[in-house]
Amino acid sequence: MSTIKVHDKYFIPYMTEATVLARIAEIGKDIDRDYAGKKPLFIAILNGSFMFASDLFKCVSIDAEICFIKLASYKGTKSTGQVITAIGLDTDIVDRHVIIVEDIIDTGKTMNEFLPQLHNQQPASLKIAALLHKPEATKYPITIDYLGFSVPNKFLLGYGLDYDGLGRNLKEIYQLTENPS
Ligand code: 5GP
Repeated sequence: MSTIKVHDKYFIPYMTEATVLARIAEIGKDIDRDYAGKKPLFIAILNGSFMFASDLFKCVSIDAEICFIKLASYKGTKSTGQVITAIGLDTDIVDRHVIIVEDIIDTGKTMNEFLPQLHNQQPASLKIAALLHKPEATKYPITIDYLGFSVPNKFLLGYGLDYDGLGRNLKEIYQLTENPS
């Protein structure tokens, strides 16, 4: 792995594909153990989580379902501010054991607003699997039930994460640098 340029920015190697996949395999085993006989429903949040969701789902060997949604943010009323709404959630989650699959939790705002909406639909249980978490950036307390890695508060790229549309196809994770050598 070496420094790469995407648009006008430089990114240095941060995490290898092998490291990412090894941790995902462990999470898969944890989910197998915790959800045996429960047929969980994975809800993967597009676009960023598509690679993580795919690799995680392959590491789960119990019966499970997966669906993919997008979260759109729009301006609500003065009192509600920005409102997050799910696009494409056409699976009934009542009484289902739901696992949200998210690429990265940064401030936690997205999950903080989306979780109550899912709770309202009365799933049997609701947990979060996130590949990455930036604890220093988190402003909204979120319980991450299955976490890949805690990472520094720096912009990351690759393995599904983009910079202005590019870089999602990188197998590894890169970190923004101001000082490319
Ligand atoms: P939050 O609502 O937790 O602040 O933001 C979560 C979303 O912000 C993620 O799903 C992701 O789309 C985006 N995000 C946060 N940090 C990064 C990052 O380091 N790189 C990229 N590419 N996206 C990020």
